[in-house]
Amino acid sequence: MTSPVWHPFHQHGLGEPIPHVVRADGAILHLASGGTLIDGISSWWVTTHGHCHPRIAAAIAEQAGRLDQLIFAGYTHGPAEEVARGLIDLAPRAADRDPLAHVFFSDSGSTAVEVALKMALGYWHNLALDGLAQPRHRILVLEHGYHGDTIGAMSVGERGVYNQAWSPLLFDVGTIPYPAPGREQATLDALEAACTAPELPAAFIVEPLILGAGGMLVYPAHVLRDMAAICARHDVLFIADEVMTGWGRTGTLFACEQAGVVPDIMAVAKGITGGAIPLAATLATPRIFDAHKSKDRARLFYHSSSYTANAIACAAAVANLAIWREEDVLGRIATLSEGMAARLAELTRRPAFANARQLGAIAAIDLIAPDAGYLSDLAPRLRAFFQERGLLLRPLGNTIYLMPPYCLDADQLDRVFAALADAGERFG
Ligand code: PLP
Repeated sequence: MTSPVWHPFHQHGLGEPIPHVVRADGAILHLASGGTLIDGISSWWVTTHGHCHPRIAAAIAEQAGRLDQLIFAGYTHGPAEEVARGLIDLAPRAADRDPLAHVFFSDSGSTAVEVALKMALGYWHNLALDGLAQPRHRILVLEHGYHGDTIGAMSVGERGVYNQAWSPLLFDVGTIPYPAPGREQATLDALEAACTAPELPAAFIVEPLILGAGGMLVYPAHVLRDMAAICARHDVLFIADEVMTGWGRTGTLFACEQAGVVPDIMAVAKGITGGAIPLAATLATPRIFDAHKSKDRARLFYHSSSYTANAIACAAAVANLAIWREEDVLGRIATLSEGMAARLAELTRRPAFANARQLGAIAAIDLIAPDAGYLSDLAPRLRAFFQERGLLLRPLGNTIYLMPPYCLDADQLDRVFAALADAGERFG
C-alpha cells in the first residue's frame, strides 16, 4: 500500500525505502522491522539528551492532564513564565551590554527567525514613527547561512536549487562573505563597508561559530566577536541564530558565550524542549521590546500563531531547563566531544577523507568522492549505506557529519565511526 505522507527534503521519485520507527530510547530508534538505528544526528539536531528522556516525558504527561493549550494573546500560564525566566537567566550576558530580557515564544526555528527579523524591522519602524531614526529594512546575512524554510528565513539564507522555485517571493539581502580560514579580514571589511553604506542596514543575522546546513563550516570566536563589535559600533542590530548551536551543541550552552557576545536578538528552538515537542523562542534586549511598548496600538508586535507558548511544550522546556540546572550536561558533552575528537583523528588518516572539523558535539568530515555535488546521488547512497549498518546519518553532499544525543556511549560511538570508515572504503 502506498503511503499518502509527503516527506520533507525527500525525493519520493527515487523510491528510497522509508524506515518506519515505532519507538525510541536514548540514542536508539527501534524499527517496525525489528531492527534498530543509532540516531547519529539527534533526529535533526533536536533530541539533545536522547529520545524519550523520562523527566521530559513525565513533565509532558503531567501538563497534558492539567492545562494543554491557552490563547497567549493577553493570557499566560506558569510553564511559559518559568521558561521565560529560565531563558533569561541562562542567556549570554556581559557587563557592558544590555541583557536579553524579553522572550517571545513560537514553535520552530524558522518562526523564531521570522520573529527576530520582524522585531528588528519593527524596532526601526517604530523609532522612525517617533522621528528618532530613518526606517531601515536591509538585512545583512552571512554567505552559506541557513535559517529555515519559511519565506523570511529562506530570504536570509543561501540561495540555491532548494529555494529557486520561490525566488520571486524572497527579499533582497546584503551578503557578507563567509569567514573561511585566511579570509577572516575580508569578512570583517565587507561587514564594515555594508554597515556604512548609504542604505543603512537594520540587522545582521548569523549562525554563531558554525554554519550548519551550509556545510558545517566552523569559524573562530574572535571573528564572531569582531562582527558583533562592528554591528554595535554602527548601531546595526546583531541577531544570533542559536537554533542549531544552542543547548550545548558547541560545547557551551550557547555558542555566543565563547566569543563573549550578547546579541540584540537571539533565536532558540530545537533542544529547548530536549527535542520532545516543538517550541521556540526569540529573546530580545529592552530597547527592542521598549520600541514596541506604547499606548499606541499601532506599535504592538503583530505576530502570533495559534500554538504560541503551548503549555505542554513549555512544561517540556521547564523539565529541560531543570536537567541543565541539576545535571552535569556540559561534562557529558565534554566527554562525548573528546570521544568524537579521538575517533575523528583516526578517520582523518584515511585517504578517503579530508577537512575534518569539530566544535563541541558536532563533528564533520568530507568524503573525497568522484561525484560529490549537491544534486548527485552520493548523499542518498550514503544514507542507505549507513542505514544498512544500523545508523541514521544524513550527509550534506559529500560532508558526513555527526550531531549525536549527549547520551551516546563509547560502544555506540565506536559503531558509528566504524560505519564511517567503511563508507570511506566503499565510496572514497
Ligand atoms: N536556524 C538554523 C541555524 C537551523 O539549523 C535551523 C534548522 O536546522 C533553523 C533555523 C530552522 O529550524 P526549524 O527546522 O525548527 O524550523
